[in-house]
Amino acid sequence: MSELNLVLLGPPGSGKGTQGERLQEDFQLPYFATGDILRTAVAEGTDLGKEADEYMQRGDLAPDEIVVGIIVERIATAEAADGFILDGFPRTLRQGEALDEALKGAGRLLTAVLLFDVNNEEVTRRLGGRRTCTDNGHVFHVDFNPPKTEGICDIDGSELIIRRDDRPEVIEKRLSNYHDLTKPLVGYYEQVGVLRHVEGCKPPDEVGADIRGLLATLRMEEGA
Ligand code: AMP
Repeated sequence: MSELNLVLLGPPGSGKGTQGERLQEDFQLPYFATGDILRTAVAEGTDLGKEADEYMQRGDLAPDEIVVGIIVERIATAEAADGFILDGFPRTLRQGEALDEALKGAGRLLTAVLLFDVNNEEVTRRLGGRRTCTDNGHVFHVDFNPPKTEGICDIDGSELIIRRDDRPEVIEKRLSNYHDLTKPLVGYYEQVGVLRHVEGCKPPDEVGADIRGLLATLRMEEGA
């Protein structure tokens, strides 16, 4: 079977992380989320973390050179030979072009770019109530997906916190950055012919089923 090279595209809070984790399990593929990678670097106090921290706190994007390097390195590893799932990358046209170049150089192509369609109000509600576990980044929501014990992660028992960039003023900034800087990628991938829409407002299980159906159809078309 050919590679499965996926990009998850959509505003913050559109469910990319939730579905990315499921896809990783379903397809046994590496899942690279630039936001998670940068947060780990910040927590560990590495040079990368120190550089990215100020941008992240403000809800701005980190410089393209930093994130492009992170991803290009990872998709070239043996772990990603059968495919990969990218979440939160690319986020600018320059990043998209850099990804294309890296893939082209290796004789590879993107299988699909899944665009999570979710409106601004829904995203704001989701991010506002989001609680993230300190140890592994597991995600809960105070109303839609509350933990069994308030403030504690069901999965690893660590403390649940509000991410610094999930504060209301930062959410607004992240959304406007998405519309200004990331949305142009929608037209870009539409033109390439790899863009597929996902109705991100549905409950997570339904979104997951839709994605599985969509990928099965792509596989059939590929084999036809
Ligand atoms: P996320 O967890 O995907 O919402 O990412 C959190 C933050 O990490 C973003 O608000 C940015 O500051 C930074 N970040 C993540 N991915 C990228 C990227 N592809 N380009 C630039 N900055 C990024």
